[in-house]
Amino acid sequence: LTNVAIVGASAAGVSGAIALRRCGFDGSITLYDEDPTLPYERPPLSKSLSEPSRELKPIIAAEVYDELGVELRLGCRVVGLTSDRSVVLSDGSSTRHDRLLLTTGVSARTLAVSGAGLDHILHLRSAADARAVTSRLMLGGPLVVVGGGSIGLELAAVARGLGLSVTIVEVAPLPLAHAVGHDVAALISALHVDRGVRIATNATVASFRGTKEVEEVALADGRVLPARTVVVGVGVTANDGLARDHGVDCADGVIVDQFGGTSDPWLWAAGDVTVRRHRRLRRTCRIEHWDTAQRHGATVARSMVGDAVEETAVPYVWSDQYEHTFQAFGRPEPHDRPILRAGAEPDRFLAFHVDGGRVHAVAGIGYPRDVRAGKALIERAVNVSDDTLRDPDTDLKRLISTASTPGCAEQAVT
Ligand SMILES: Cc1cc2nc3c(=O)[nH]c(=O)nc-3n(C[C@H](O)[C@H](O)[C@H](O)COP(=O)(O)OP(=O)(O)OC[C@H]3O[C@@H](n4cnc5c(N)ncnc54)[C@H](O)[C@@H]3O)c2cc1C
Repeated sequence: LTNVAIVGASAAGVSGAIALRRCGFDGSITLYDEDPTLPYERPPLSKSLSEPSRELKPIIAAEVYDELGVELRLGCRVVGLTSDRSVVLSDGSSTRHDRLLLTTGVSARTLAVSGAGLDHILHLRSAADARAVTSRLMLGGPLVVVGGGSIGLELAAVARGLGLSVTIVEVAPLPLAHAVGHDVAALISALHVDRGVRIATNATVASFRGTKEVEEVALADGRVLPARTVVVGVGVTANDGLARDHGVDCADGVIVDQFGGTSDPWLWAAGDVTVRRHRRLRRTCRIEHWDTAQRHGATVARSMVGDAVEETAVPYVWSDQYEHTFQAFGRPEPHDRPILRAGAEPDRFLAFHVDGGRVHAVAGIGYPRDVRAGKALIERAVNVSDDTLRDPDTDLKRLISTASTPGCAEQAVT
């Protein structure tokens, strides 16, 4: 094995390249990305929208690619994979690689409604998108955010900080409920309503109106919202087209085993583009978290060159809402019992999702130590009563140190 390609230079792809070198792989590594910018961290994009001059945060410095001996090919879109194991670029050139790691992530979903092509209807996924959103925010509101996911909520918070009038259009009864459960979603909603964000719930967009630029958002229930700018954040679709066209098994993402292998032994995949059964979650799904994508990229890259490792860290996500940081480990399921620590407020709360006497997910604002302790409860499968979790005097760290069940670290396979 002397020649490896990675397609997608972001969280998963860059950490994959680093891991290959760290585990002793000394063949050539080519890292392709269609984005022309030095690979950057995506999470700050939605958190620094009010700072037009803020620089992107590179994942690693430009010179580190040279030091690692990684050939970084930016502005190169991969358009196809061939049966002789070549990567085909949009300029028609192709290169053969012994193994391929696909880390192409996801793209923002678009809304197929009348007027969707009007000017100033934006998405937020890349550095270029963030620049476009920032320049619109500087002109003032009203801003309509379609979709109350965590990126839409972060954007709403930033826009309110700039004094814009903001309305979120959310199809569900509460923003974020599918991701964090009803109780936590209600607290986060309240945080936004307190700051003057209007949230139109159970609402869908019928059309965007305007001549050249968007001027109004018409909702299916007849309401009409004035808009200078619209940002659509209604979820993502996996960039799995290359794998799918190559005949690899996909299901809204590339289906991978616990090591990142696909149905084609040549092609491996990691990060947001993958669908997998994660040891810490109770369903097969995509995980769209920065930290998880980095870990997954690193472990799959090692597995691809024969150093098989499974990524098993409890999935972690954070999100900045105003001056608060929301943090969560694990993923709730609809049948879980939600438990809030007594005294919850929108800007300070700790929540658990429990099933079968065990904590499966923990989330909070203002309780970073307890959220970390909650992660340990998940890892060690500690049996804990609802009352103990509800009690604000419970010392979670102590609870863990007295529990005997061992944890399960990332598994090296021999
Ligand atoms: C605005 C924003 C804020 C976020 N905030 C948070 C946060 O606070 N916390 C958190 O945990 N997560 C956050 N996330 C999610 C996190 O950024 C993702 O989980 C992570 O970026 C996934 O990494 P990835 O490498 O799998 O894919 P991606 O980051 O999606 O990267 C995929 C790369 O592949 C490239 N690519 C795709 N197709 C091709 C092709 N055909 N040819 C060449 N290149 C291609 C793309 O250009 C892209 O650079 C945020 C995401 C966004 C967009």
